[in-house]
Amino acid sequence: LASADAVAGRTVVEVRGVRIGGPDLALVGGPCGVESREQLFTVARYVAETGVKLLRAGAFKPRTSPYAFQGLGLEGLRLLEEVRREFDLGIVTEATEVETFDAVERSADMVQIGARNMQNFALLRRAGRCHKPVLLKRGPSATLEEWLYAAEYVLGEGNRNVVLCERGIRTWSDHARNTLDVSVVPAAKALTHLPVMVDPSHATGRRDLVIPCGLAGVAAGADGLLVETHCNPEKALSDGPQALLPSDFIRLVERAQAVHRAL
Ligand code: PEP
Ligand code: MN
Repeated sequence: LASADAVAGRTVVEVRGVRIGGPDLALVGGPCGVESREQLFTVARYVAETGVKLLRAGAFKPRTSPYAFQGLGLEGLRLLEEVRREFDLGIVTEATEVETFDAVERSADMVQIGARNMQNFALLRRAGRCHKPVLLKRGPSATLEEWLYAAEYVLGEGNRNVVLCERGIRTWSDHARNTLDVSVVPAAKALTHLPVMVDPSHATGRRDLVIPCGLAGVAAGADGLLVETHCNPEKALSDGPQALLPSDFIRLVERAQAVHRAL
């Protein structure tokens, strides 16, 4: 179902009016997690001001340590619904488990399946029965083939609105959190009709590497970028070191669009 020759042409996934996989570059920006009403609204305001139409933020956070901030859960979803109304933004947020999937599905315009859950087959099947588009992150050690089989689980249950997202893989390089696999973008697009996005934030874990790696993803043919940004990264409850400052976020949006136009 995911193969390039399974359908005529390429799949375009529409999320609240934003077409991912069409001629325009799709941009998604926002904090790692929903932390408070004030934080979410502050970030949403400048994200919307840059012309970006999709806001990312997790209410349920898959954290490496069980002692780390786990997200605001249902309260976070409620804040996301509020921010959607206030700024007319589409909401991209993660579902981490089958048990809370219904609530995430109701509140989201696009449901993210995180890297750690790429081979959580029960969750993938549930995402396949979801009535919202799905953003499927690549697992930190998944091959392209394994990633496409994960997409196949979702597609097989009937949800044809799947977008793939490269977010870096684990390699021997230790200067960054992960290694952005730029070549997987054109390689994936050769094998599948599904749109492919790049997340330069989790791919690098370092604010200073996010813009160059995001631009590299666009140059490699990514259909869009998923980027973390925070109004006060020093105070962020998760992923502060990789969050773009508001001014950097605006710079990335402008430069990514320029690179995309030049292709
Ligand atoms: C995220 O997008 O905040 C996230 C947890 O991403 P990943 O699953 O790629 O680590
Ligand atoms: Mn994050």
